[in-house]
Formats: sequence, structure tokens, C-alpha cells
Amino acid sequence: MTIQQNLSEIKNKIKATLEIAGDNAGCGNLIAVSKTRSATEIIGALETGHRLFGENRVKEAASKWPELRAQFPDIELHLIGPLQSNKAAEAVALFDVIETIDRPKIAGAIAKEMKAQGKELKLFVQVNVGEEPQKAGVAPDDLKAFLKQCREEFGLTISGLMCIPPVDEEPSPYFVLLKHLAKENEIAEVSMGMSADYETALEFGADYVRVGTAIFGPRKA
Ligand SMILES: *Cc1c(COP(=O)(O)O)cnc(C)c1O
Repeated sequence: MTIQQNLSEIKNKIKATLEIAGDNAGCGNLIAVSKTRSATEIIGALETGHRLFGENRVKEAASKWPELRAQFPDIELHLIGPLQSNKAAEAVALFDVIETIDRPKIAGAIAKEMKAQGKELKLFVQVNVGEEPQKAGVAPDDLKAFLKQCREEFGLTISGLMCIPPVDEEPSPYFVLLKHLAKENEIAEVSMGMSADYETALEFGADYVRVGTAIFGPRKA
């Protein structure tokens, strides 16, 4: 299967799943996760008309996307990996959406950089839905206070929540939890679901699914 065929098949599956989800359906936007992929592979996806992409490293994104964006100006690029505050300036310059705000230091650095660069990004908070010690994200119990701090201390508008459920566990309860947390905190959008579970995530109301392997094939790196 080519990248083009994979994209088209996944888009058909998304459409069908959104119909089944009915009233539970979210927007179901497909983020093509292009980490470790070459510019040539990414252009294969861009040439089908796809414009929504995700990268998880600032440095890697900086090496590929400025050139791609010059060719395809209507790209929407999401940062879906952890962010260090010393990379905030570069991240604000490169990305349209940052999905991984998860601590005051990052929230403050992003707020400062958006002001300095006169650029408004769409921002999501990452939630550690499985409360895994090794995983990034705000604990569900701390979310309300963190959102308040983002708003009141840093003047940030948070428009979405993002999660990566524990591997090798049934993801549905975590998708339900993220959706519940969004509703409870009046957050409009949720980003959840990857290659293995994006259809499940769509059934539970995903507005963004993040799919890499199912589009581009297995990652070598
Ligand atoms: C790599 C990655 C994905 C995509 O994973 P696949 O299993 O290849 O679809 C999604 N979300 C995040 C945060 C990632 O780092």
C-alpha cells in the first residue's frame, strides 16, 4: 500500500466511524504524524491534498517544515511531543498548534513567546489519563487548577485536551475520561487515538486523531 492509498482508506474509515458514532461524534480531523519521515514521504501525503500534520520533536520539525510550508502555505502543524521551555521560541515560530502544554513553566514560556512574536497558537493541555509516573501530562485531579492558572496567570486560552493512554490497555475508559474532563472544564476539543485505536477514539468523540504508522508504514527510527 502507498501513502496515498493508506490516507484514502483511513479517511474512508473515519467517515464511516463518524456516521456510526452519531451524536457522540467529534470533528474527527486526521493528523498525519510525520515524525521520522523524510520530506519526500511527507510530500507524498501533501500531494493528495492532506494538510494537517503532527511532529513530536521541535528540532526535527525545524529541519523539514519551513521548506515544506514555503511550498504548501496552508499546512496546519501540531506539536504532539514534549516541549522544553528553552525551545519555546522555536516551537511558537514553527507550529500552529501545541498539544502538549503540561506545566506552568511551559505555559509561561509559550505565553511570553506568543506575545514576543505576535503569533496566536491554538493550545491544548496534555492529560496523563493513566497517571503513569513516566508519562508527561497533567494528572486528571490537577487539571482544573492548571487550566485556571493558564487562564489567570498566563492569559492563555486552552482550546483542547490531549492524551496518550497506557500501552497494552483497553483505551476506551481513557477516551471517555478525557472527553468527560473536557466537558467538565468547558474545553471544546479533544485529541486522542493513534494508529491502533483511532476508530475507538472516534467512537468516543475525538476531534483530532494522530495517525503515523497506518499512513506511512512502520517507523525505523
Ligand atoms: C508517534 C505518535 C503518534 C502516532 O503513533 P502511530 O502509532 O504511529 O500512529 C501519535 N501521538 C503521539 C503523541 C506520538 O508521539
